[in-house]
Amino acid sequence: MHHFQYHQDSLSCEDIPLEQIAKEQGTPCYIYSHATLTRHFQAVDQAFASVPHIIAFAMKANSNLAVLRLMASLGSGADIVSGGELFRALKAGIPSNKIVFAGVGKDHKEIRYAIESDILFFNVESSAELQAINEVAKGMGKQARVALRVNPDIDPQTHPYISTGMKKSKFGIGADLALAEFERAAALPNIQVVGLHAHIGSQLTKISPFVDSLTKVLGLIQTLKDKGIPIQYLNIGGGLGITYSDEAPPQPKDLAEAITPLLKQSQCQIVMEPGRVIVGNAGILLTRVLFIKDTGTKKFAIVDAAMNDLIRPSLYEAHHDILPVLRIPNRQEEVFDVVGPICESGDFLAQNRTMPLVKEGDLLAVMSAGAYAFTMASNYNSRPRVPEILVKGRESFVIRERESYDDLIRGEHIPGFLTS
Ligand SMILES: *Cc1c(COP(=O)(O)O)cnc(C)c1O
Repeated sequence: MHHFQYHQDSLSCEDIPLEQIAKEQGTPCYIYSHATLTRHFQAVDQAFASVPHIIAFAMKANSNLAVLRLMASLGSGADIVSGGELFRALKAGIPSNKIVFAGVGKDHKEIRYAIESDILFFNVESSAELQAINEVAKGMGKQARVALRVNPDIDPQTHPYISTGMKKSKFGIGADLALAEFERAAALPNIQVVGLHAHIGSQLTKISPFVDSLTKVLGLIQTLKDKGIPIQYLNIGGGLGITYSDEAPPQPKDLAEAITPLLKQSQCQIVMEPGRVIVGNAGILLTRVLFIKDTGTKKFAIVDAAMNDLIRPSLYEAHHDILPVLRIPNRQEEVFDVVGPICESGDFLAQNRTMPLVKEGDLLAVMSAGAYAFTMASNYNSRPRVPEILVKGRESFVIRERESYDDLIRGEHIPGFLTS
């Protein structure tokens, strides 16, 4: 359920017609619904109420300060993957004791920053990283808390670019090597082993990969206990899918029902890292049709948003529903490619899409654009990044301004020898 619905044929976010936001803020822009964000966070939180848990919102899905502050106010922590994300999380008021740090390539500066900030733990992805964390912690006279990320070799049955838990993947430590790695970690003087992490992929639409992964991991937790390495935190990662078109992913409560017995059996404090399931359907990208181009073989709706604003269709062949902001009853349907102004054939938001006839000046809503959307935006073709707007009831707030042309060249310098 989300709060982007038609009110008398006018698509609205909560109580504000999108047409009004386009008038006030221009297009393209991202629009997020406060009620939807809140509802989705609480759905996850309540589903797992019967086990002690920390929700560490995966902020690579959406790292706007206001969104993070809202998450913090609901009790969320953060799953970070860089020093920059740590900076944002702390600025937004996320408590450091609810921050976990994943990623295969952390540099010394990031490691130091995270230890200084006293985060809950690192999710460690290799023995080389373990050495690096030990070294940095030693230099600071501290102990660093770590969870080892285990790769359970499970096929999550999702897009190959977003599956992470198979043997061939760059993520985590192979299940067969994990025990030895835990033993090495436990012996390092400046490392404190506190947890085990398993995140197997994103946009998962079935429960079974979660169950299979946890079942594998539980065996390992027991073995570790027997070896004198008790695991305090079990981090089950994120990855629960959402409906982009006709997928029917399990609801958080369905997943919780299936895995709660396993989580209880672990006797661990549970950490989870949902991203997409909280923000994905809580946001849209609002765009306007610039031109209609009919080449004789194909019809293009050329819109003012492009792959630099939303790269998911180009990168993953991802489907986003595209809805007319003003619904005209009985309008005939046609097949369009919805494309942006960027000089790349890969610049499309939808291909061969049957949709109600659109014409120049129409507003379109690209749905399910709250996750991995603005956070992946770039300035390609020197296009300023678009604003982000948060809607709460009848009020709207600009939570990130539209970039200016000056923003585009900030930090660039022409060396003196070129100016003389
Ligand atoms: C990306 C990622 C997540 C979030 O995945 P979603 O599919 O957005 O829930 C969680 N944990 C880790 C380690 C990730 O890399």
